[in-house]
Amino acid sequence: MNRKPIFAANWKMNKGASETEDFVKSFLSKLQGQNFASEIVIAPPFVSLPKLAEVLHTATAGQNAHAIQIAAQNCSQYDSGAYTGEISVLMLREFFVHYVILGHSERRSIYGETDAMINAKMKKARETNLKPIFCIGETLAEREGGMLEVVLRTQVTDGLQGITEKDMNETVIAYEPVWAIGTGVTATSQQAQDAHAFVRSLVADLYGADTAGRIRIQYGGSVKPGNAAELMACPDIDGALIGGAALEPQSFFEIIRNGSCPSAE
Ligand code: PEP
Repeated sequence: MNRKPIFAANWKMNKGASETEDFVKSFLSKLQGQNFASEIVIAPPFVSLPKLAEVLHTATAGQNAHAIQIAAQNCSQYDSGAYTGEISVLMLREFFVHYVILGHSERRSIYGETDAMINAKMKKARETNLKPIFCIGETLAEREGGMLEVVLRTQVTDGLQGITEKDMNETVIAYEPVWAIGTGVTATSQQAQDAHAFVRSLVADLYGADTAGRIRIQYGGSVKPGNAAELMACPDIDGALIGGAALEPQSFFEIIRNGSCPSAE
């Protein structure tokens, strides 16, 4: 099945409004004249979302610029009320946010997010048509302990509880082995492909072969310009979720260029 690769920059707690503006201007100038057959997404910190929306809108108005979608790095599972420090999905929609990263391993391990919480956020995101980038992945101890498939099965089954087939068509999965995130250690393309094929088989078990064939599964974990092409050549890898290497316009651009086919459009 023909799936459009999706490259998403997860800036984590980096880049305020002015750095966001500088990045986007530089990045757009690199994209000038390019037509990658890939979707490009940037997930800045919440406070930089308005600036990102403004700069993209200004830069692309009236031009045939490569579209960049905006993502948030998290959302609340609640609508409004006494949830200090939280941001609702409706607030995100006001800033033209289309995607939301949910279940990132840093949210799971540092902030104690459980599969049940992530599942509630997935459902809340879909209520306002936000597209989840649903992150899953095993720790090194789990992999070495032979628990890879058990962990992925639990995360997928519990995280997607009650998510409909229609919603799955608007969902992206990011397979991110925790031991590869921010460590400089990348999964080999064989390890990544095997895990992606397994995740796709889990989706097939839950939603059928058509949905499994359609869903995009990104790889995340120390993706760089030098390893993007090999990883993206794997049949079940449909793009990347990128942290460190997406903080520089040049390396984010090179990852997309090296991992994308030129567009035939
Ligand atoms: C991430 O934060 O999702 C990630 C994959 O980070 P890095 O690319 O730095 O490993």
